[in-house]
Amino acid sequence: MNNDCIFCKIIAGDIPAEIITQNNDVIVIKDIAPKAPTHYLIIPKKHIKDIASLTADDDKIAASMIAMAQHIAGDLNDGQDFRLIMNNGKSVGQSVFHLHCHYLAGKKMTDL
Ligand code: AMP
Repeated sequence: MNNDCIFCKIIAGDIPAEIITQNNDVIVIKDIAPKAPTHYLIIPKKHIKDIASLTADDDKIAASMIAMAQHIAGDLNDGQDFRLIMNNGKSVGQSVFHLHCHYLAGKKMTDL
């Protein structure tokens, strides 16, 4: 756990969030400022700063995030289409420096 990280604090239960589901590896919460009717964040429980910081040892984590997206779509969101976005770095919009994937659904998203 990184004591300065808001997602680590959510994972630890120290600050509240709307938890959708979780398993040993990842937690899914509602984004506090949704950009689509469904906007979740898929967050690994291990503190990793960003995609660039992933190592070969983290293979399972990346796979767990994708598997969780499949679970959300298939079991929780009736199989509706979805978009996954991961920002890497401040200049492209990353604002929380704990790896996460945006799960967006419920509207047509034409912009990148
Ligand atoms: P990014 O800009 O890719 O780093 O995404 C960070 C996301 O975290 C943004 O969409 C924020 O709205 C969201 N966010 C920040 N703080 C919280 C929080 N306490 N609970 C839920 N979502 C949050």
